[in-house]
Amino acid sequence: MTMINLKIKDNLSISLLLSPLAFDRISCLCILVKIILESKINTYKLGGWMDSIKRVYRYGNGSAEGKAEMKNLLGGKGANLAEMNLIGVPVPPGFTITTDVCTEYNKLGEEKTKEILLAEVKGAIEYIESLTGTKFGSSENPLLVSVRSGARASMPGMMDTILNLGLNESAVAGLVKKTNNPRFVWDSYRRFVQMYGDVVLGLKPVSKEDEDPFEVIIHKVKAEKGVKEDLQLTTEDLQKLVVLFKKAVKDNTGNDFPDDPWEQLWGAVFAVFNSWNNDRAKYYRALNNIPEEWGTAVNVQAMVFGNMGETSATGVAFTRDAATGENLFTGEYLINAQGEDVVAGIRTPQQITLTGSQRWAELAGVSEDDRISRYPSLEEAMSEVFRQLVDIQEKLENHYKDMQDLEFTIQDGKLWLLQTRNGKRTGAAMVKIAMDLLREGKIDEKTALLRMEPNKLDELLHPVFNNQALAKAKVIAKGLPASPGAATGQIVFFADEAEEWAAQGEKVILCRIETSPEDLRGMNVAKGILTARGGMTSHAAVVARGMGKCCVSGAGTIVIDYKARKMTVDDKVYKEGEWISLNGSTGQVLEGKIETQIPEMCGDFEKIMELAEKYTQMSVRTNADTPNDAQVARNFGAKGIGLTRTEHMFFEGDRIMAMREMILADDEDGRRKALDKILPLQRRDFEGIFTAMDGFPVTIRLLDPPLHEFLPHEDTNQFEMAKEMGIELQNVKEKVSSLHEQNPMLGHRGCRLGITYPEITEIQARAIIEAALNVKKIGIKAVPEIMIPLIGTVKEFTMQEEIIRNVAETVFAERGDRIEYQVGTMIEIPRAALTADLIAESAEFFSYGTNDLTQMTFGYSRDDAGKFLTVYLQKGILKNDPFQILDQEGVGQLVRIGNERGRKTRPNLKIGICGEHGGEPSSVEFCHSVGMNYVSCSPFRVPIARVAAAQAAIKNPR
Ligand code: ADP
Ligand code: MG
Ligand code: MG
Repeated sequence: MTMINLKIKDNLSISLLLSPLAFDRISCLCILVKIILESKINTYKLGGWMDSIKRVYRYGNGSAEGKAEMKNLLGGKGANLAEMNLIGVPVPPGFTITTDVCTEYNKLGEEKTKEILLAEVKGAIEYIESLTGTKFGSSENPLLVSVRSGARASMPGMMDTILNLGLNESAVAGLVKKTNNPRFVWDSYRRFVQMYGDVVLGLKPVSKEDEDPFEVIIHKVKAEKGVKEDLQLTTEDLQKLVVLFKKAVKDNTGNDFPDDPWEQLWGAVFAVFNSWNNDRAKYYRALNNIPEEWGTAVNVQAMVFGNMGETSATGVAFTRDAATGENLFTGEYLINAQGEDVVAGIRTPQQITLTGSQRWAELAGVSEDDRISRYPSLEEAMSEVFRQLVDIQEKLENHYKDMQDLEFTIQDGKLWLLQTRNGKRTGAAMVKIAMDLLREGKIDEKTALLRMEPNKLDELLHPVFNNQALAKAKVIAKGLPASPGAATGQIVFFADEAEEWAAQGEKVILCRIETSPEDLRGMNVAKGILTARGGMTSHAAVVARGMGKCCVSGAGTIVIDYKARKMTVDDKVYKEGEWISLNGSTGQVLEGKIETQIPEMCGDFEKIMELAEKYTQMSVRTNADTPNDAQVARNFGAKGIGLTRTEHMFFEGDRIMAMREMILADDEDGRRKALDKILPLQRRDFEGIFTAMDGFPVTIRLLDPPLHEFLPHEDTNQFEMAKEMGIELQNVKEKVSSLHEQNPMLGHRGCRLGITYPEITEIQARAIIEAALNVKKIGIKAVPEIMIPLIGTVKEFTMQEEIIRNVAETVFAERGDRIEYQVGTMIEIPRAALTADLIAESAEFFSYGTNDLTQMTFGYSRDDAGKFLTVYLQKGILKNDPFQILDQEGVGQLVRIGNERGRKTRPNLKIGICGEHGGEPSSVEFCHSVGMNYVSCSPFRVPIARVAAAQAAIKNPR
């Protein structure tokens, strides 16, 4: 054996242990090792040595090393600053330190990162110096810079920015001499010390209750002078502020405020990297599904000054109205101001356009004279710059082909752009802007569709809060955003009282610890539903979504006391009859009455749906249990019903009695007696649904009642049942307790019920077939698909199928007429997916019941998972709640296996999904990719699923 040492660099060598035989191959091996290493070096960062990685990208004066497509590396802000240079928009020169460095920094720490960045950053600063004719650290002609964060996805205001960096006493003196504008210089300096103190030196208060120490000082100085506005502070006042600010820094940190511009710069760079992990940013990422590992870039950019006097200004603008989508340039600005002044609410910002200004004045109750003298538009105040800004906004929108959100600054009459990005917008604006851009010929149909954030379409379907009213409201608790929409009403705790109040014209919010079928009527009349317990698939949540009704579920901090008719949150008591409001889109519970409005259903919404229809390769069906639901879904464009839960038909009214009677019956006779009451009711429902779906398929699932949901638990209900069935109360009680299951979700339900009590399957099959024949007589085409639930073995399926087909033939013979129908199954037990090839020998269609499939694949009880799922999400064990977003990695495999094996046996097997996931965009995309024929979701999610399905087809045609 021979040991060979290959020395690559001082701190890296590779040892090879070689047998003599291999010795003659060493030269070969060496070359191989060299090649491998060289190629690795380009992809991996091995510490700081010998790498050729570019970490800093410069831009300025119309050229740039980066471009818009490099958002992943440069962050959105950095990529667009580069791009704006490339298309001739005036942008102060600067450079971007990449997002990769943020990741490196998190591993290597400050010292090492500084070492690997030093040369590039120095070079880039020199580059800015050469373009601006200034010098970083000079006392005669100092270069000042801003240090700005900027992640891949825009996270407005979540991370930190520092302006006017590079100032110290001597630079201040030099700048005063150069500009002859001491007030501007001292204003810049006090802003810098404040921002640097807050962001880098950690003086920014952590909690909302604490005040910013610098703001406290400003208030004090203003109060002493008896002035209100920052602008009223003189140069001397500003000088005094700087002294007091620096003292605050010393008092708080024990250190002097840093004077060395390089020390300032590094401090700021690392503070921006650190701000990626501040609480605000983390929360925002969690909310918007932005991955932790992306990191932020750092942008260092030459300052331009909007605070140089009356010919300077700063502002923000949108190329179109972000609330309505109207094609109207809008925005706000302030003269003699800097940075975030416009959005900080210190001064009343002015409107950019004259039209906007006049509209604003009317809303704000400002007279035209007042408006002109105190709040003139930019169009009036600086007409030449305004015209340039109009040209630039048009240029940017045409370039990016989307509505832009801009930040700009005017320094002494010269316009500079500091940021552009695709603007955030409401659901209504999203639709209108995409359709307008399509009509203007700027984007094509596919792009218009891809511009949709499907979930946002929801806003177009439910009442919404008035924004101003919402901003003023107090949040008292937070639960799950179970069913979107806005609801405001008086608190009631009982379903029957909800009905009574509603009958008298009151608006009520039904507040329950959790809901059960008995609450259904109360839920139906309530404006919204609030529960203290339960998840996204709890009874309250599922039913509310089906109804398109606002619901916040599982608001755990709320303690409900039914007896005392009150609920308590953090010691504050809310009694029956008091007003509260729910935001079903955010899960917020708010105090008091908040004005709501019906969102306008504009024609563009329909047009987007037509486009979706044109490109989709899956159809969208709905989950509907009543003719009314079916009709609503038809109006939203559903192409059939993917799931009718027959037991849901029995939540209502007297029907629950018949259902309970059947469950409580001692023997087949008793069950048949109860079933005879059920038959006509079901038949009528089916007739209604077939009629609403005229010609479209209707999948009807045979009874799958979680028994515990139907049993009468309360004394009054038990008494009622005893009377109805003519038996003793004690009998009912015994029966209820004998039916009690330890684990009802895995208990006597689904086809297991039909296997033990075949008469249930018989009666249901009869109701379906008779209904279909009945509507046929009046010219309506029924296409029933009878679905057997909870199949785990093929035998279960064939036994149930036999009953159904026998009944069908009997009814056909009785009526002397027939119809086409199919018998298929729900795939919701892992074993069913694994044995899909066998099941498909008999089953004519599959429908994935992904709620149960998820429950059984993970082994998480849907009803109890709330307790630990939040912890699992926080700890990163799971990325998403698998009951909301289909787990493609695990559950998805079962779906793939089921499809493959099923279609191997029966190539034309019809496959769909009917779990809650059928209306969730990323899950819909998955369903497309595995070749499903349709997805089915609750009526109000139909438009969302339609757009998501079309997007999937555009991205990945099959
Ligand atoms: P955010 O990401 O929170 O929007 P920014 O990095 O955009 O933060 O900075 C906030 C504001 O600071 C900008 O809107 C702009 O007004 C101001 N600003 C940033 N850099 C400069 C600069 N180089 N010159 C003048 N103003 C700047
Ligand atoms: Mg910004
Ligand atoms: Mg199920």
